[in-house]
Amino acid sequence: MINDAHCHFFSPGFFTALGREAGIDDAPRAVPAKLGWEAPGDDAALADRWVAELDRHGVSRATLIASVPGDEASVASAVARHPARFVGFFMVDPSAEEAVARVTNAVTTLGLRVACFFPAMHHVALDDPRVDRLVEAVAAQPGAAVFVHCGVLSVGVRKKLGLPSRFDLSLGDPLAISRLALAHPRLPFIVPHFGAGMLRETMMAADACPNILVDTSSSNSWIRYAPGWTLNGVFKTAMSVLGPSRMLFGTDSSFFPRGWQRGIYESQKTAMREAGISESDQSLILGGNFDRLFSNQ
Ligand SMILES: [Zn+2]
Repeated sequence: MINDAHCHFFSPGFFTALGREAGIDDAPRAVPAKLGWEAPGDDAALADRWVAELDRHGVSRATLIASVPGDEASVASAVARHPARFVGFFMVDPSAEEAVARVTNAVTTLGLRVACFFPAMHHVALDDPRVDRLVEAVAAQPGAAVFVHCGVLSVGVRKKLGLPSRFDLSLGDPLAISRLALAHPRLPFIVPHFGAGMLRETMMAADACPNILVDTSSSNSWIRYAPGWTLNGVFKTAMSVLGPSRMLFGTDSSFFPRGWQRGIYESQKTAMREAGISESDQSLILGGNFDRLFSNQ
């Protein structure tokens, strides 16, 4: 069984937000055309496309991340259409005035499960009181969780459109999650890409906080930042600190026609085998942990 804990939902709303920044009209069609991608159609068509894609690859369930603040409704409609297949994540900008109301609405009325923070992108530190209020709003909803992007951050689509990415990478320190995770011991905190270059800090925070998990998604090309790092070495380190129950397999799939990134799955399977991870532990990482975390209530 495979469940993918990191897929983006590049909805018409996502392209509209990018088009507004880039000065492109008719963005849901024009932006993908400019990128050499397929237009998403409407939210329902895109949701159905993802289900067909997951079926083609034997993937049972996947997260869908609303990848700009304010796009919660698109993922909510995809989840409502295919509740057995999708878990809804959404990006939140803590500097937005209505952020608490948006988060509360997303995890209650809209049925989304995970609020995603990008401190480097939104220039709001994790010890900011605005973040505390948002995390409290998520923690009040049983079954909800928090996702915090740490380490290196680059948004490929912004680069391709020539949009500036004035990120403050110093704000993406996983150690800053520990204060929040200790304050909310029953709330899961997911750190994508093993901390995206901050593996050591992610392991330190996770060692102190049993409610911190990692996802394994993307090509993890950050391993080139330190001498001698390999993907199987990363899996070994994560196994020794987190054990098999706090790792969530993910690909970071996003657009069509590329679709679901089987190559990422294959390379992680190889890395896990090389790391000596047993078949039963691999099945937790590849799907079991996802189902435990995101049981369909
Ligand atoms: Zn991603």
